[in-house]
Amino acid sequence: MIPFSPPRIDDLTVKAVEEALRSGWITTGPRTKEFERRLAAYCGVDKVIALNSWTNACELVLRWYGIGPGDEVIVPAYTYCATANIVMHVGAKPVMVDVLDDFTMDPDALRKAITPRTKCIIPVDIGGLPCRMQEIMRVAVETCHLFTPAVNLRVAGSNPQMRLGRALVLCDAAHSFGARIEGKPVGGQADITGFSFHAVKNLTTAEGGALAFNLPEPFDTAELYKYLNTMSLHGQSKDALAKTQPGAWRYDVEFPGWKCNMTDLQAAIGLVELDRYESETEPRRKAICERYMAAFSNDARFELPVLKDEHRETSYHLFMLRLAKATEEQRDAIITAIAEREVSVNVHFIPLPLLSYYKGQGYRMDDYPNAYRHYAREISLPVYYDLSDAQVDEVVGAVKAAVTQVLGA
Ligand SMILES: *Cc1c(COP(=O)(O)O)cnc(C)c1O
Repeated sequence: MIPFSPPRIDDLTVKAVEEALRSGWITTGPRTKEFERRLAAYCGVDKVIALNSWTNACELVLRWYGIGPGDEVIVPAYTYCATANIVMHVGAKPVMVDVLDDFTMDPDALRKAITPRTKCIIPVDIGGLPCRMQEIMRVAVETCHLFTPAVNLRVAGSNPQMRLGRALVLCDAAHSFGARIEGKPVGGQADITGFSFHAVKNLTTAEGGALAFNLPEPFDTAELYKYLNTMSLHGQSKDALAKTQPGAWRYDVEFPGWKCNMTDLQAAIGLVELDRYESETEPRRKAICERYMAAFSNDARFELPVLKDEHRETSYHLFMLRLAKATEEQRDAIITAIAEREVSVNVHFIPLPLLSYYKGQGYRMDDYPNAYRHYAREISLPVYYDLSDAQVDEVVGAVKAAVTQVLGA
């Protein structure tokens, strides 16, 4: 059986976690701070905060920006539910837009969806391929005349909506750590970029997430880091590490915050992952994706994903193959036939309007024809460090045989 995406856990990972366990400090501490510094250096930004998931990290961003009932947040219809769920959590309305042929948010559809209630845009780097961030940032800037900031909002002495004067662009980079736009790592393009280090992602801490800050002047990223750190720890003025200083026991609570800090056990895994990301993880994932490209490119039954173009390069997180011609039912039958050949594949993603909850909220799949057209034909193939070339060939063989079985030769 070839699994879909097991994490790479070896002696180095185990040793790093053991050292953290034996160090006497297991919650947020020196390893988390080191992980944050190393992530910031990698992404080329001043500050990164590491938290316990993409979901909680990005939800804090929406709360920091004062987004709530009556506000709209634009998301692609084609994404994982987390992108829209955080909008529901803060009581705002997810406004869905359709995607382009590369699965990423359509900037023209985005422009049409902006209203005076739009407070945030969350494009998604699906599979690791960066969205068209330059165009999306341009839409955010060019529609600033529609932006209507909340007047009574005060966060740490100022009003972030007044300061920015436009919709916040929060990139869902849950798949795209290490991907590049114009040669630069994802993280330094959107106002704020959210990464996920969930167990199945291309860089993992078991569970975890991080935010890279890139807000324009006059935002102070050190101040923003401090505020989000406080938000992640109940609004408490001192974290556990600061309180261990002799005599530094007293703290205050400035507001009823949340609890979503990263632990040093997670950071220990992340530091090992980061150490070998560029030298081992990314080259191996890239080689696997290129092997798939070569194997499927001469077969007209398949449509290949974009891995690279003149502006962007994927993180090689997912290999999102599409069938050139197939109905959703045929695709499902092909996946069953692949599973019968002992290979695990997946579908990324079921568009939000097909999920019971969002369907119940009145979203209609017919309004996002591209999202459906891509979803119905999509099959994600295994990509992970320990997948051998022979296994890649086995996956290819299983997929082609399954397609022949279901669609005929
Ligand atoms: C995994 C994922 C998330 C959520 O990440 P967590 O760290 O599990 O909260 C968000 N968006 C997308 C597109 C994802 O694939």
